[in-house]
Amino acid sequence: MSLADLEAKLGLTTPIRHQLFIDGRFTDAISGETLATLNPHDNSVIAHVAVAGREDVDAAVAAAERAFPAWSRMAAAERGRILLKLADLIEEHAEDLARLETLDTGHPLRDSRRLDVPRTAACFRYFGGMADKFQGETIPVEPGFLNYTLREPVGIVGQIVPWNFPLMFTSWKMAPALAAGNCIVMKPAEITPLTSLKIAELMAQAGLPDGVFNMLPGLGSVAGQYIAEHPGIAKIAFTGSTATGRRIVQASSGNLKKVQLELGGKGPNIVFEDAPLQAAVNGSAWGIFHNQGQACIAGSRLLLHEKIADAFLDQFLPLARSIRLGNPLDETTEMGPLTSMQHRERVLTYADTATQEGGEILAGGKAPAGVLAGGCYVEPTVVRAKSFRDRVAQEEVFGPFVTVLTFATDEEALQIANGTDYGLGSGLWTQNLSRAHRVARDLHAGMVWVNSYKRVNPGSPFGGVGKSGYGREMGFDAMHEYTQVKSVWVNVDAEIPPHFQR
Ligand code: NAD
Repeated sequence: MSLADLEAKLGLTTPIRHQLFIDGRFTDAISGETLATLNPHDNSVIAHVAVAGREDVDAAVAAAERAFPAWSRMAAAERGRILLKLADLIEEHAEDLARLETLDTGHPLRDSRRLDVPRTAACFRYFGGMADKFQGETIPVEPGFLNYTLREPVGIVGQIVPWNFPLMFTSWKMAPALAAGNCIVMKPAEITPLTSLKIAELMAQAGLPDGVFNMLPGLGSVAGQYIAEHPGIAKIAFTGSTATGRRIVQASSGNLKKVQLELGGKGPNIVFEDAPLQAAVNGSAWGIFHNQGQACIAGSRLLLHEKIADAFLDQFLPLARSIRLGNPLDETTEMGPLTSMQHRERVLTYADTATQEGGEILAGGKAPAGVLAGGCYVEPTVVRAKSFRDRVAQEEVFGPFVTVLTFATDEEALQIANGTDYGLGSGLWTQNLSRAHRVARDLHAGMVWVNSYKRVNPGSPFGGVGKSGYGREMGFDAMHEYTQVKSVWVNVDAEIPPHFQR
């Protein structure tokens, strides 16, 4: 199907963008290379998207360097106004963005409409408002001196975005960086570039000066690696796997880039014996099965108190088995396909691993048969592991795959919960107030949800500890990440110290 036919079939009001966005213009890659991006529902080709090479990265960095002096000195309120305008444009184009995100990633359309697009607009709006409210300090130093701090942008920032929430993660990275006065060279994941390119188009319409923001679809091993190495880039912000995060740290060492990493997770979701059971069942299903489990904060380890484990599973398993899988563009679909066939195969191998380790598959564990067999689908899968040390209870599966473990005491729950290398999202369900705060305190995690799971907000810091990475997105913390502090000392009326006086 031609691109125009596909746009008409989807009812899009604006064209699908498939070129690089450099210096305010859409352009082919210098090499002329392209890569097909696929619809994970049936693996049909959506578009052939330009693939950035090293020379395109150089061109984007040069454009960003030209734009930086004026952009970083522009009134902060004016930078904020452009981000606020972008938020309005995202809402105007909400349906196009939702359909495009669904087509490229497999997110059910109702989630793209209800979550991805509104959260993207909210993020730009939050940081649009933040731009002129983030400020330095005056410090009470010794008499005679005025000491104050300036929060200055870092410079040219490289940002590398994964494929699980391409639209939302584009906004999480772009918005604070631009609010703080940085210029950006961003690379979306090779398999999901379309909504990030749409944001580039809307950004230009919102009045962003040429060169401030550059979007380069391309391969991680080429464009991504080069962005991480590039001597003209002062900071790199990355979301993706822990293995790639490690590679980025190594690549960025040449010019000692500031590095921010949001990596994998194996979120413990603890259900105590006094939990509000129905809410815990529903919230836990949301925690793992939303976005087909492709979330770094997914509640992928379900820790059940032994007294309520059976009662919990009696409700949870039928719920998991009843989730409606289907074409994500169908408005009744609750779970779509995974984002690629390669990833589907990887997730399915964990069902084999579970059996080999002596675990029991309680639901799913396979690809659906019938009309969905040709797509990247995996059934909602629940596995009872033998030990929290099993691979299925330690490694990030990143799919609709939850491992069930039981515990007898709060101490044992914490030992299991904290017994991985990761520390990103975590949850607990209890009606005991002091237990809630005590366990929240003792969890080795960047985020804890009590009687809830997987809440995010542009004002609330998001990030991990341990092998889940470092640095925080969202809120004031994100503005700290995208600025560096300068301390200015002014001698107001202090005597010059006597050293070396003649
Ligand atoms: P990945 O880490 O390889 O890819 C994420 C991004 O990094 C993509 O844009 C990719 O092009 C880029 N990249 C890859 N190699 C690079 C390099 N050498 N230098 C710079 N950039 C590079 O992740 P993946 O292979 O697509 O997925 C594998 C696993 O990663 C998943 O199964 C999951 O466990 C994890 N993952 C986590 C998140 C998250 O939100 N934390 C997101 C995506 C994937």
